[in-house]
Amino acid sequence: MENNKQKVALITGASSGIGEATALTLSALGIRVALAARRADRLEALVQRITRSGGEAIALMADVTDEVQVQAMVANTHERWGRLDILVNNAGLMLLGPIAGANTEDWRRMVQTNVLGLLYATHAALPLMKAQGGGHVVNISSVAGRIARAGSGVYNVTKWGVVAFSEALRQECVPDHIRVTVIEPGVVETDLATHITNPAAREIALQRIHTIRSLQSEDIANAIAYAVTQPAHVNVNEILIRPTDQD
Ligand code: NDP
Repeated sequence: MENNKQKVALITGASSGIGEATALTLSALGIRVALAARRADRLEALVQRITRSGGEAIALMADVTDEVQVQAMVANTHERWGRLDILVNNAGLMLLGPIAGANTEDWRRMVQTNVLGLLYATHAALPLMKAQGGGHVVNISSVAGRIARAGSGVYNVTKWGVVAFSEALRQECVPDHIRVTVIEPGVVETDLATHITNPAAREIALQRIHTIRSLQSEDIANAIAYAVTQPAHVNVNEILIRPTDQD
């Protein structure tokens, strides 16, 4: 295992769910963590929790759909610790519902957050990682990035896009020793489904979380920790991880 104490990670969507758990898990490994999201109060509370446990963390309020804010988020992380080893592109929305009759604002929000936000952060981080001779980009896709289902079409578009982008990025980054990992979780018990605007789709998604033994955010954080703590010559490209009970 490499020396985690030297490493710096920037995690988007760190104010809840998978991002919050990832911040705690990486911090417990000695990695310094920059926590980004829009809800500053939640980020500050998490910084305090990590600091009390002996870790190092900073809160960076940023809306990933705004490229200028994303550039500042990446620059501030680098200014704070002088490096950026791991970028976890986790911020996301899952606004499920049928294509016909959908509120197209849901589509724009998902594309802007799940796709463009991830692209902006990666674009801003790459020059810093290249200059320091390596890095690791971890992109959170989904089982929905591998299997399309009725009622999930545009979420599928965004998560499929993350898988495609990650593979192209991996190939481009080989000369710069930058690793790329895509994580594809199945059902995880988080707040994600509560944001669905279509009432019927929200009801189905919320019920599903409780009818099976869903994954917990820590399960995904552990998968991310596995990928980022491998020796530098090991690039874990993809982790597809479902609840045992998920079909
Ligand atoms: P949560 O809703 O708990 O977390 C989503 C996070 O994204 C929050 O921290 C939220 O912070 C942040 N976020 C949303 N929009 C923005 C934005 N515009 N700018 C910055 N941050 C934003 O859900 P999860 O933890 O479940 O989701 C994390 C990722 O995991 C998502 O990409 C999701 O698609 C993916 N995923 C989740 C699965 C699940 O079953 N839960 C399954 C497969 C993948 P804030 O509101 O404070 O900005």
